[in-house]
Amino acid sequence: MDKLNDPSLLKCHSYINGQWHPSDTQIAVTNPATNEVIGYVSDAGISDVELAIDAAKVAFKTWSAHTAAERANLMRKWFDLLIANQQDLATILTLEQGKPLAEAKAEIAYGAAYIEWFAEEGKRIYGDTIPAPANDKRIVVIKQPVGVVASITPWNFPNAMIARKAAAALAAGCTFVGRPASQTPLSALAMAELAERAGIPSGVFNIVVDDDAKGIGQVLTQHPDIAKFTFTGSTQVGRQLIAQCASTVKKVSMELGGNAPFIVFDDADIDAAVQGAIAAKYRNAGQTCVCANRIFVHDSILEEFTHKFSKTVSKLTIGNGLHESTHIGPMISTKAVADVDNLVNASVILGAKVTLGGSVAKQGSHFYQPTVLTNVTNDMPIAKEEIFGPVSAIISFTDEDEVINMANDTEYGLAAYFYARDIGRVWRVSEALQYGMIGINEGIISNAAAPFGGVKQSGIGREGSKYGLDDYLEIKYLCIGGI
Ligand code: NAP
Repeated sequence: MDKLNDPSLLKCHSYINGQWHPSDTQIAVTNPATNEVIGYVSDAGISDVELAIDAAKVAFKTWSAHTAAERANLMRKWFDLLIANQQDLATILTLEQGKPLAEAKAEIAYGAAYIEWFAEEGKRIYGDTIPAPANDKRIVVIKQPVGVVASITPWNFPNAMIARKAAAALAAGCTFVGRPASQTPLSALAMAELAERAGIPSGVFNIVVDDDAKGIGQVLTQHPDIAKFTFTGSTQVGRQLIAQCASTVKKVSMELGGNAPFIVFDDADIDAAVQGAIAAKYRNAGQTCVCANRIFVHDSILEEFTHKFSKTVSKLTIGNGLHESTHIGPMISTKAVADVDNLVNASVILGAKVTLGGSVAKQGSHFYQPTVLTNVTNDMPIAKEEIFGPVSAIISFTDEDEVINMANDTEYGLAAYFYARDIGRVWRVSEALQYGMIGINEGIISNAAAPFGGVKQSGIGREGSKYGLDDYLEIKYLCIGGI
């Protein structure tokens, strides 16, 4: 942490109602690249979370009464500070999460872009007038903020997952109680410090850090003063949280797991497909929800694609994310490494072939070798489950219908990718894939202007874009009579 230009960005308590709240117990935050403890953060209890909800409820009265332009001005200052401190925020992120510094810097810019974008879009929350069925009546529709929003976010994007939610919530006029993953609280607390410096009023943006996801999750999903609950994480946990939200009939948004197909057709630009697959697979050591999970390649180009792809993967260097040469950082935990290794081994027993990598890396127990498996079939564990590690599973196919059926044969529906040049095929496949987002001749698809989200068991709702505001707004119908 002596690498920071501004060490005061490093906070060690929850941020509630504009104040830093110490507690008697501490959570150790470790650097997954070195296993060293990089800091301790106060472990908040249920009473702290309740304090944050109360503060957000009080702040909602004044924040929702601000004009959209007033909110936008404060959010713009927050954006400017995030960008001005990009290097420090990225360093903190890499230290607690592990991803290469260049990726961490990109995440800070990506997260901040949502704050900038929604600050502007908040000025365009338009209502409607609707022709009434009688001359003495008028129908008007207005949109209002839902109220206090609570979020739980994962460790894989410790800044951007919070930014995506808080940006839309604050722009809509809602107040926010965020609970970051216990492995990566420092990025969230640094965001809170900069929100305070930007002048975001007390109680509007609160961050509560704890080591009791289940207990705090119960409060955030069941508290009557929370109007909306938004979650990013696994489908398994998302299902439980939706059920918990039912007790108070909360509005929910869920950004859950994925099992993205990445299809390379025989008319594809193979070199472009190789580059796209590398970006869609190995970013963040394969620990993103939109990672290519199954790479389907037409059998007429299988050999060429596999050769070029494996050659490119073999050049990826493993190491500490702070080192400039690193492409693949550590995974978040040794359990995550073991889970990936088990998936690889289970699939090898069933006939998958290890073309590259295939085991824990010599850099240490948090590192897994960039791996390419061939001879994979769509019913192997590596194709059925979300890999969440730097492993590519290559499956061959012969025709379009067959590959669409295989691609859709999953409970997930987050992101899908395909490479093809035939325009008829581009439309047919885009319409047939049961996914919320499709990258066509493109491996990186997420940005603030576009609606991010999944179908099937990958989620409910959208983040980013004009559609992203809807999740934080209620529609109110006014019927004006006696005219
Ligand atoms: P996870 O186990 O579901 O954890 C995500 C968050 O939920 C963490 O903050 C975790 O806290 C918390 N949590 C865990 N159990 C909980 C419970 N019973 N009640 C309340 N909160 C609970 O997910 P993960 O394995 O860490 O993260 C990876 C998953 O997130 C993948 O499935 C990935 O696809 C998904 N993801 C989706 C998106 C998207 O936008 N669709 C984006 C990124 C990641 P602790 O960490 O403190 O345990």
